[in-house]
This record gives sequence, structure tokens and C-alpha cells, in this order.
Amino acid sequence: MRACTIDGVPRRAEEATISVMGHGLLYGDGVFEGLRFYAHRSFRVDQHLDRLRDSAIAIGLELPMSKADMKQAIERTIKASGLSDGYIRLVVTRGEGSLGLDPASCIQARTIIIADELAMVSPESRQRGVNVIIASTRRLNADQLDPRVKTLNYLNQISAKQEASAAGADEAILLNQAGRVAEGTADNIFIVKNSHLLTPPTSEGPLDGITRSVIIEIAAGLGIVCEQALLSVYDLYTADECFLTGTGAELIPVASVAGRQLPPKRDIFRRLETAFAQLIHDNRIEPAIDL
Ligand code: PMP
Repeated sequence: MRACTIDGVPRRAEEATISVMGHGLLYGDGVFEGLRFYAHRSFRVDQHLDRLRDSAIAIGLELPMSKADMKQAIERTIKASGLSDGYIRLVVTRGEGSLGLDPASCIQARTIIIADELAMVSPESRQRGVNVIIASTRRLNADQLDPRVKTLNYLNQISAKQEASAAGADEAILLNQAGRVAEGTADNIFIVKNSHLLTPPTSEGPLDGITRSVIIEIAAGLGIVCEQALLSVYDLYTADECFLTGTGAELIPVASVAGRQLPPKRDIFRRLETAFAQLIHDNRIEPAIDL
């Protein structure tokens, strides 16, 4: 069942409302996080809440709840959903204000937490791998809107996603202003070349993905060399393996890039996937937080 809390107060998800004067709605003024939970336990919640804090600092928004309260509200929302495994959307909006865009008119930031199911791709696509295109929409530069800030305005990624849908592809890869690879619309990208794992550094425009950091950690544990490197479209076309990572996506292999098929062998991906599954399994059996 979908469950929802607003400012820590449980609401019936179907009836929960937020003001039409909210600047989150009017201007996309706010920040958010997406987390998964497995066996009722949120995965990497501290990292998500730290990133939320950093996003809020970047846009000059004071979070209305402490980290501990936020964690409790997340756990309560998970409980209320009755779901064992699912997805949490945590949104902090600038709150209600006047029609002008100055956030000075917004008195109280609002916190919305929704727990629901989420299936990003079908099991068949996950097995087969997804087909990606290179979007003509470019990722924003850090001097425009720093891509590390997870703001409520996702039009940059939505435009790229529309390009993918129009082309009959599953996902779009956004390049940065210099024409190098940044990331997918809601996922980070990795390639394997000559047994080395490569992913663009955050200075190239991707979000500092938490699943990305988990994969970098796992690779180190498995003795797989992982480098943060500048990648071109050519590097994607000629990769031995390519895959996407994200909270929603988890790990998804890429079957083709702009019509170029990648080799079907996915040795390193399989090793990382197995270790990732083990990590999730361990998360399932961690002691529960007492509320
Ligand atoms: N890039 C973008 C633009 C995203 O929205 C997401 C999803 N949060 C990711 C990458 C993957 O990040 P994470 O692993 O933290 O979910």
C-alpha cells in the first residue's frame, strides 16, 4: 500500500494535499531524495540524508527536520506502507509563499515522504540489457545549476527521457557541455574496458550517485580496478561492458548504445551484481531500528 507523511504526520496517500501556493510546485524550488528499502529497512539512509542536506545547503534551504527525525519519519512511513521492499520518495519543498519567485516569502519548508512500490524496468529488460541513445539534451554545467544538487526541477533529464522514448530506446545518456559522457536520466553510467571499470568523475556532470559509490566500494573489495575517467561517446561504443546504476535502477546492463550492440559477455557486471545482491541481503538481516 502507498503510504505518506507530511511534516512527519501520517496522511492517507490518496488524500494528502499540499498548497497550490507551494514553491515546490510553482518553481520546482526544493530538493529530494529517492531511497530503497529492503525487508522494511532503508538502504544507505545516512548517505541519502547527507546528500539531501548538501542539496539543501546549495539552494539555501534550511531543512525543517533534524536528520534523526527525518530517519524516524522514513521508518514510520515504511511501516505504514506494510511493504517489505519498496521505494521512498523524500521531498523537501521551499513551502507556501507568494506568487513571486523570491523564497523570502516562504515561511515554512515542507517535508513529504512517500513509500511505494517501484519497478523501473521489466525483469526481461534487466536480463537482456537496455538500449540507450545519446541525447541531444546536454547536462547542465556546474556554473548553471550544479548537477550534484538534487533539485525538484528535473526538466533537463525529462527532455532526455522524452528523446529516448521518441527513439524507442529505454534510456538516454546525457553528455556534458564539452560533449563527454555525464550520466543517464536518473542513473550513473559505468563501462568496462580491458578489465578496468570506468565512470565519469562528478566534475563531469553526473549526480554523486549513492549506488555509484556502492559499486566503487564493491569493486575495491573484489580487487577490480575502478577509475574515475573522462569518457567520450566513442568509449561507450567500444566498451567491453556498460551498465547503469541508481537507487531506482539498481544495476542494469546496457545492451546497445545508439544502435551499436555491446558484447553479450558481462563478466565484471555479473561479479558486481552478485556482490551487490549480497549487500542487499546483509541489509535485510541488519538489526531493525527500534521506533
Ligand atoms: N543521476 C541522476 C540524475 C539521478 O536522478 C539519480 C537517481 N537519484 C542517479 C544519477 C543515481 O543516484 P543514486 O544511486 O543515488 O540513486
